[in-house]
Amino acid sequence: MSAETPTPRVPFSFELYPPRSASSTEALHETVRRLAAAGPDFLSVTYGAGGSTGGRSLEVLRFIREHTDVEPLAHLTCVGNTYAAAATLIREFLDAGILSFLALRGDPPLGQDEPFLGDLESAAQLVQLIDRVQAEREPYEESPVPGFPGAARVKDRRRASIAVAAFPNGHPRSVHRWQDIDALLAKQAAGATSAITQLFFHSEDYLLFVEKARAAGVTIPILPGIMPIVSPVRLARVLELTGETLPNELAVALEVEPTPEGRHEIGVEWAARLAREVVDGGAPGVHLYAFNQHHTVLTVLEEAGVLPAARLH
Ligand code: FAD
Repeated sequence: MSAETPTPRVPFSFELYPPRSASSTEALHETVRRLAAAGPDFLSVTYGAGGSTGGRSLEVLRFIREHTDVEPLAHLTCVGNTYAAAATLIREFLDAGILSFLALRGDPPLGQDEPFLGDLESAAQLVQLIDRVQAEREPYEESPVPGFPGAARVKDRRRASIAVAAFPNGHPRSVHRWQDIDALLAKQAAGATSAITQLFFHSEDYLLFVEKARAAGVTIPILPGIMPIVSPVRLARVLELTGETLPNELAVALEVEPTPEGRHEIGVEWAARLAREVVDGGAPGVHLYAFNQHHTVLTVLEEAGVLPAARLH
């Protein structure tokens, strides 16, 4: 009789944003501890375009590094930066021991457009710059091979992993339907090691996008970004920010539900179903937008069967 094969663990991770006040810093530290206790593969921290949250993002990343065993992943944006300023910024993050990045173009402030872009015009260029800064910062070193006089081997060094953004339903400014696949191919060619998607509301959005990307030659893992939408206000806000199409069924369910608890349940169920469907469809894991709160995203993972209930709360 053969032993039962254990179900493989589904990798998961969370996105956080830097706190805006001292009291929210305390609350975020508690959230980081709770999320870390669930054993995610990484915790990512957003970065305000134009450097608006730079110092605070780095503080959160340092906290994760010093107080948990979880890999901190830094979002970095290039909009508005000169090459020199971007290189200095990257060096600062590497010096703080950060070796995982999400390289983003970022968005110009409302009303400003291309002239604001600075020296770096795309995320692909930022990927290359992170690679270059790291290579220049860590000089080539050799170590002797014991027992073989005169022989030397190149000293191991961990290369930075560089994720990039992907847009299953198209970036709001894409002008044709293949542009997002082409952009992802360019980022992969520049050295990106994985991609994280913009939120989406139907599993087929993600699964069809991955199929198209694979057919076009994208080989890096594409991690689905899942956001629990627990109120009509949050739904309106994310639609405004991402340009996604209104998901009618979810919108109506949230609108007619009279209690916050009920709306929370609807959002959690929707996100858990999405997570289950994309994992069943072959996703390499799930990345949850946590909104700096642990309870909702951990419940989503529990309902999706990714986390055992005992790990919660
Ligand atoms: P690129 O790869 O350079 O371009 C992305 C897409 O935009 C391409 O598919 C291309 O089709 C299209 N595109 C870009 N510019 C144009 C143009 N001028 N005309 C036509 N098409 C164009 N932003 C932040 O500021 N901070 C964050 O921390 C942050 N985190 C994010 C995390 C994730 C997972 C995602 C998906 C997005 C995040 N963003 C963040 C938003 C991101 O910066 C914007 O969506 C930005 O507009 C595109 O960034 P990119 O890295 O994908 O750019």
